[in-house]
Amino acid sequence: SEAHRQLHVFFFPFMAPGHIIPTIDIARLFSARGTKSTIITTPLNALHFADNISRDKQSGLDIDVQVIPFPAKEAGLPEGCESINSITSPDMVIKFFKAVELLQQPFDMLLEKHRPDCVVADMFVPWTTDVAKKYGIPRLVFHGTSYFSLCVSENITRYAPQEKVMSDSEIFVVPGLPDQIEMTKSQLPNCGNRDSYGFSERQEKIRDSEVKSFGVLVNSFTELEPAYADFYTKELGRRAWDIGPVSLCNRNLIDKAQRGKKASIDEHFCLNWLDSKDTDSVLYVSFGSTASFCTAQLLEIAMGLEASNVPFIWVIRRLHNKEENNFLPEGFEERMQGKGLVIRDWAPQVLILEHPAVGGFMTHCGWNSTLEGISAGVPLITWPVFAEQFNNEKLITQVLKIGIKAGNEVWNSWIEPQDVSVTKDRVEDVVTQLMGNGEEAENRRKRASKLGKTAKKAVEKGGSSYNNLSALIEEIRLHSQNI
Ligand code: UDP
Repeated sequence: SEAHRQLHVFFFPFMAPGHIIPTIDIARLFSARGTKSTIITTPLNALHFADNISRDKQSGLDIDVQVIPFPAKEAGLPEGCESINSITSPDMVIKFFKAVELLQQPFDMLLEKHRPDCVVADMFVPWTTDVAKKYGIPRLVFHGTSYFSLCVSENITRYAPQEKVMSDSEIFVVPGLPDQIEMTKSQLPNCGNRDSYGFSERQEKIRDSEVKSFGVLVNSFTELEPAYADFYTKELGRRAWDIGPVSLCNRNLIDKAQRGKKASIDEHFCLNWLDSKDTDSVLYVSFGSTASFCTAQLLEIAMGLEASNVPFIWVIRRLHNKEENNFLPEGFEERMQGKGLVIRDWAPQVLILEHPAVGGFMTHCGWNSTLEGISAGVPLITWPVFAEQFNNEKLITQVLKIGIKAGNEVWNSWIEPQDVSVTKDRVEDVVTQLMGNGEEAENRRKRASKLGKTAKKAVEKGGSSYNNLSALIEEIRLHSQNI
């Protein structure tokens, strides 16, 4: 009967690892509750998770990938440029978004053919709300960030506090929020005269499509940011379901080791290395899938880590100056033997964070990394670089009080030239503070550990996120029955 018919949900992530990775987790969570999940993506992006999906299928999940070609050439991009990570210049950003727009027609055709019961589509494909509406299909928006960040962004748009300050570095309070959140203009994407490659126009479309959508899916959990979950739904009037941390759906070793893409280090080697270290003694250092530092900044990090004398795992990715490979200090890796592990390119992040030897995380505050750190119950060193990472930093340091700022204050995307923003001495100082035994460090650690436990409870049967997903699936079913 209709009440027992299997629901079919489409998932359409933006072509960036930080969006694809959690969307796949969400698709798996839906399938685990009995829906059929179809992930729509482009050929090169699909390659990264094809193995994971076929393992899921073997284990009985009803989950599939539907590939559509990416119109790179039509948009004036080089062949094979299918991810935000392949972008190396500002004009490529504009072209990339143009290519994404061109996906509207093939997406429309897929909807017409398959008529799913619901579409979970990324914030960066705002046109999906209207396309889905044509077929009476509800569209859910996935931003991939926190309630907190959504509230901060909305109130900055509404009240424009940045327009009232005299300089880029003057502190202002974001009006109307549950806490006094302090920011500067230099931390915003449209700081100065630069409009970050069509940011404002895109932002307007995103907002408009969100207001008209069925609601918003949030990778968070109610207990983490209750005041902001409330603010978002009651004050800002959005319908929203928080169903995270979604990374916790990766329960076995291989899932964790290959999340996003196959790690560039053997997972067993990595685990053995961590096994040889004391509990809470290792700092994990990673800046996500896209941020990339200039050589001078990498040197400062290397020297600061060495001077701190704290064991570490450091993931280094390079987009700038690709040809330069000798960017570490002379003899660094030899001296760090046994003390520090450098991973080039891709780390099995969730696996590392969950190891009991890891006691801190230096992060660029991408929301996935932030939430993965929180789920693992470790305190954080915050080093935001671009996008809404500065918002997430405020949540970590000003609201949750589970982190210390490294001190970068300037929004700087990965394709722009950059300076050193955090010196060796500062790196040493924050690492020593975070990993040390002082009272403040202990309290921070306790708060983080408690949040980690709450996060795990939220996704267990009967937990807040678990129940929210049940409620959402029921709403989708009701909607389907009524059309
Ligand atoms: N990630 C990973 N290994 C790496 C770098 C990143 O597994 O070496 C994963 C990380 O666990 C997270 C995602 O990639 O799930 C990055 O998303 P985030 O929102 O933290 O930052 P972004 O990459 O979008 O800046």
